[in-house]
Amino acid sequence: MLLHLVPRWSARLFGASPGWRRYTRGASARLKGLGCPRGTSSRLACTAYSTVAGSPEVMLTPERYPVERLPFSTVSEEDLAAFECIIPGRVITDPEQVQTCNVDWLKTVRGSSTVLLRPQTSEEVSQILRHCYKRNLAVNPQGGNTGMVGGSVPVFDEVILSTALMNRVISFHDVSGILVCQAGCVLEELSRYVQERDFIMPLDLGAKGSCHIGGNVATNAGGLRFLRYGSLRGTVLGLEVVLADGTILNCLTSLRKDNTGYDLKQMFIGSEGTLGVITAVSIVCPPRPKAVNVAFLGRSAGCPGFTEVLQTFRTCKGMLGEILSAFEFMDAECMQLVGQHLHLTNPVRAVTSSTQEEPSLSGDQEERGSNSESPFYVLVETSGSSAGHDAEKLTSVLEQVLNSGLVTDGTMATDQRKVQMLWALRERITEALSRDGYVFKYDLSLPVERLYDLVTDLRTRLGPRAKHVVGYGHLGDGNLHLNVTAEAFSQELLGALEPYVYAWTAEQRGSVSAEHGLGFKKKNVLGYSKPPVAVKLMQQLKAMLDPKGILNPYKTLPAQA
Ligand SMILES: Cc1cc2nc3c(=O)[nH]c(=O)nc-3n(C[C@H](O)[C@H](O)[C@H](O)COP(=O)(O)OP(=O)(O)OC[C@H]3O[C@@H](n4cnc5c(N)ncnc54)[C@H](O)[C@@H]3O)c2cc1C
Repeated sequence: MLLHLVPRWSARLFGASPGWRRYTRGASARLKGLGCPRGTSSRLACTAYSTVAGSPEVMLTPERYPVERLPFSTVSEEDLAAFECIIPGRVITDPEQVQTCNVDWLKTVRGSSTVLLRPQTSEEVSQILRHCYKRNLAVNPQGGNTGMVGGSVPVFDEVILSTALMNRVISFHDVSGILVCQAGCVLEELSRYVQERDFIMPLDLGAKGSCHIGGNVATNAGGLRFLRYGSLRGTVLGLEVVLADGTILNCLTSLRKDNTGYDLKQMFIGSEGTLGVITAVSIVCPPRPKAVNVAFLGRSAGCPGFTEVLQTFRTCKGMLGEILSAFEFMDAECMQLVGQHLHLTNPVRAVTSSTQEEPSLSGDQEERGSNSESPFYVLVETSGSSAGHDAEKLTSVLEQVLNSGLVTDGTMATDQRKVQMLWALRERITEALSRDGYVFKYDLSLPVERLYDLVTDLRTRLGPRAKHVVGYGHLGDGNLHLNVTAEAFSQELLGALEPYVYAWTAEQRGSVSAEHGLGFKKKNVLGYSKPPVAVKLMQQLKAMLDPKGILNPYKTLPAQA
């Protein structure tokens, strides 16, 4: 069980102190004392994940959703004995321990598995799957159990196959930056490992303290560095995968270029445990940037336009060029929720002249900058090799967006601790939402100019039935996280949301899953983003690689017609 404490950051940390610079419209944007590249510790090392032991409040999945158990075998005493022979001492049947792995992070789905297997090697995974295949036992591969779409936990009594003990780094090459490791390595630990060697992982996400690299690859996770370093489809060089019948497919190459035949690893990236169990990953890591700067910008109430957010993005792209590494946005309701549930402080609100380093506002500007809530906030990150050069560029951008009125308030952090605090505002929205009630989650790719329209539309459509309707996400990637919270799950609210949200997205030629995958909850909406021929081909692939359908059944693909 992974337990992380939640820090409480004091409001005064966002005041004037070294490494911070506060900007407000009308203030001249000057910078000094930059430096301090982001260090090795996580921005969000202390988030509570997967700690739902004994969660009787989570309804069993088949009670909430219309799903029928397929005719798999059930685990017998003989099966347990066989597993015990393969992985002695690592067959867990203690109900409390297994229960933790039956419930998803969001506490929205719950399976009823009675056995959790913790192999350490690919050979052990192979033997387990060979046995399950022969016995027709369904298997649920599980990494850090931070998935958002109900794919990581069983629906019925599938055997849970956890990669938690497969956490060994196999090799790292300090010239090429190529890391080869087992699938159960926790992303944050890998980040620390490569940072000590002056590299970074090409992906980063709020769940880094718990998610596994194998889970990241299985979901083709996007995250916060996608804008700069691209998809795992480009950075993953090779995989080792155990197929449903126990065959080990070793494509764990470390070559940057390899055009020999079909690129089989791509099939497993984003396959969410339905085609094979990923047991090892070869991934290329970029060099660690020497300078990281973060600016957090807001705009005063009265100009609630998303257009200004888009123009700010355009300005940043144009002026920052290759050093722009993230452009994230969140709306006012997100800010309110991280304040209410996590006690994080809005750094561009409640400014008084005593906390400003650049107190050059005119009276009415100060009033606007100090007390009003901004409808949108953006977080801009630069990562580069020259602190002075990067700071100069970011300062010019800030001057430009402040002077043109695109934003009216902003703060900039240069030292690692403060950079982390700004990132926490964005990264911990998921956590704040999960404390607000039941969360209906949508992870959509949309044309950027329409990105926020659905949020406003839904606020009107749902009215008081929803507690909160919020929008945030990776604006730089055209990825909206649309979340609706309610006191409790309600079929009526679900009916108002679906298929409406999917149809709306399809109309914009968007994607109904930008980065979270389809898992259990979204498998039936695949057709909104893929044509029937593509869906059929996926089903044929599944049938070829897993003829008995034992790997993560009920997930990712709609049932065969
Ligand atoms: C706070 C928070 C922030 C998040 N932010 C982001 C984000 O920015 N971007 C993003 O894309 N996601 C995000 N997520 C979602 C989640 O963290 C990712 O999907 C992550 O990649 C899942 O990794 P995991 O190890 O937890 O996998 P799990 O949740 O355990 O599993 C996810 C899926 O992968 C399969 N799987 C896991 N391991 C393997 C394996 N070794 N072989 C085959 N299949 C496997 C499972 O069966 C399941 O279908 C966030 C989640 C949280 C809680």
